[in-house]
Amino acid sequence: MAKALIIGCGAVASVAIHKCVQNYEVFDEICIASRTKSKCDALKAKLDGKTSTKISTAQLDANNIEETVAIINNFKPDVVVNLALPYQDLKIMEACLRTKVNYLDTANYESEEIPQFSYKEQWEFNDRFKAANITALLGSGFDPGVTGVFCAYAYKHHFDTIETIDILDCNAGDHGYPFATNFNPEINIREVTAPGMYYEDGKWVETESMAIKRVYNFPEVGNKDMYLIHHEEMESIVKNIPGLKRIRFFMTFGESYLRHLRCLENVGMTSIEPIKFQGHDIIPLQFLQAVLPDPASLGARTKGKTNIGCIFHGTKDGKPKDYYLYNVCDHESCYREVGSQAVAYTTGVPAMIGAMMLVTGKWNLKGVHNIEEFDPDPFMDALNKFGLPWQESFNPDVVE
Ligand code: NDP
Repeated sequence: MAKALIIGCGAVASVAIHKCVQNYEVFDEICIASRTKSKCDALKAKLDGKTSTKISTAQLDANNIEETVAIINNFKPDVVVNLALPYQDLKIMEACLRTKVNYLDTANYESEEIPQFSYKEQWEFNDRFKAANITALLGSGFDPGVTGVFCAYAYKHHFDTIETIDILDCNAGDHGYPFATNFNPEINIREVTAPGMYYEDGKWVETESMAIKRVYNFPEVGNKDMYLIHHEEMESIVKNIPGLKRIRFFMTFGESYLRHLRCLENVGMTSIEPIKFQGHDIIPLQFLQAVLPDPASLGARTKGKTNIGCIFHGTKDGKPKDYYLYNVCDHESCYREVGSQAVAYTTGVPAMIGAMMLVTGKWNLKGVHNIEEFDPDPFMDALNKFGLPWQESFNPDVVE
């Protein structure tokens, strides 16, 4: 029996919280702490009476380390599940160190001022986490998250060497809006407007944003345009899968999304440089977020499927081998089950599973670690059990 403190109460947190209370045999008590307490209270009211998990709520500004420390000291959780924004990662890690509690997140630290897409600052906490005998599990969503677990599983069971990995993230969901993002708009737009990046033969290669396009025939979804983008898990997978020669990340985008994004970029609406507006400093991207649909509200109107997975090429017993591991998730089924669309679902479920791995002691490497450093097997079993069953192909189409 374990206690989890969940920080944030947005789209992803809502799914993780639904999943923790479904998994009441592990999580007998949770506390939901977020900036807007009324959202935590509304979710508690929805779930109370439907589970034996005891739920409490708290107001928290996680940018304030002392506030987070006070909540941890009061609630005494076994794990802190950070589902706020990447801006809070370092502050919440510091609070976990001061209180000696395990930590988990789903996105690498970002400074609000300078986009960086790197684990560097979080990895620097490693010695202190080790000395405190606690674990920080970095990137326990889907990508990063399940994609790293897929890499560890392929390496453990299917290959002697993995030469190339292509991570393919397809969202074929249709929410009916000309433009909306499936998770936090500010974070999403920072990610997709950044230069593309991939790793080949020992070095990182930068491309212009969305400059490399491929079409892929996704199982259960069909042909989709996908674009090479930078994605954070490549940085840790390159370190943790020995002998890897190339890793790329492709994400699908529809015509309408790209057209709107280009226009917004061209007029300066995606900028994070503050501007003066009617005497106030405002950040154009934050203003844009305020006028876009809240991702948590997309669930009721999104139809279609996601397909996210990894294609591996390497050798086994001296012979070349291709292998594809993926999950297909249906937006409408997710909504029926937990009231959220599949992008939040595919992130919130692995967040709960990662927390379960830590509190049950199945994963107990001390220090700061990315998800592919742990034994993938219990996590892979839990994906099948908690709503994200995976599929495999030994003869996949490969990406040119
Ligand atoms: P939302 O914007 O829906 O939710 C974020 C929540 O964090 C909100 O409840 C917000 O409060 C709260 N919050 C923000 N700042 C603070 C603060 N200073 N203190 C306390 N709470 C705060 O985001 P999502 O749920 O879409 O995304 C959550 C995280 O998941 C992000 O880090 C995102 O990058 C990550 N993610 C990871 C994916 C993966 O596969 N690995 C995929 C998708 C997302 P309020 O309600 O007041 O705004």
